[in-house]
Amino acid sequence: CGIIGIVSTRGVADRLVDALKRLEYRGYDSAGIATIAEGRLDRRRAEGKLVNLEARLKREPLPGAVGIGHTRWATHGVPNEANAHPHFAGGVAVVHNGIIENFAELKAELVAAGAEFASQTDTEVVAQLLARLRREGRGTREAMAEMLGRIRGAFALAVIFEDEPETIIAARNGPPLAVGEGQGEMFLGSDAIALSPFTDAIRYLEDGDWAVVTRDGAEIRGANGERVERPLVRSVGKP
Ligand code: GLU
Repeated sequence: CGIIGIVSTRGVADRLVDALKRLEYRGYDSAGIATIAEGRLDRRRAEGKLVNLEARLKREPLPGAVGIGHTRWATHGVPNEANAHPHFAGGVAVVHNGIIENFAELKAELVAAGAEFASQTDTEVVAQLLARLRREGRGTREAMAEMLGRIRGAFALAVIFEDEPETIIAARNGPPLAVGEGQGEMFLGSDAIALSPFTDAIRYLEDGDWAVVTRDGAEIRGANGERVERPLVRSVGKP
């Protein structure tokens, strides 16, 4: 339902949660964040309100200067912690807004090839498919492009890879997704309101676009993998 991502040089957990609070107006049933610290992916998730996630983070803080966060409005799988995003598989973490229409068929294929699913969500097929493609030797971008060629439906996605710890890869086909430019930091958000405390310089991805976001900027590609430019707009909610 709501997506946030930050690529920075300092801890991001607090800011991920603050941004998720700005997305609360959209409604949600659970929430979670994942970061990479010292080359390792880790996450905290909680059912219910963001105060539950905050309480969890207070007991078990999450270091890391690169991270993604999500507020979930369940479509596939009950609202509980196991179904809350980010979903993990083999060094890949995924948050997703929308629905993967062909998830059942992909899941059956992945299970037949030995994947063990940890949730009932449609989203987890994205993590499991990326993990399999990486295991087969694809680079992060190749795996992303191939995965995007296989999923159908409406989605905004943000993905982090444990072995490429300073990058978020995002994709859009339906639900909105914007890349925000900060000073030596980059952001990703499902709307400008989520990004407004951080930056007002925003580029919206168009349907079919995907973006490789690092601290230095965002490389945006169209559906056929070609580089594209999207206009820089100034959002109203100036920080
Ligand atoms: N379909 C996904 C799920 O049920 C994402 C729902 C959302 O947009 O929050 O987990």
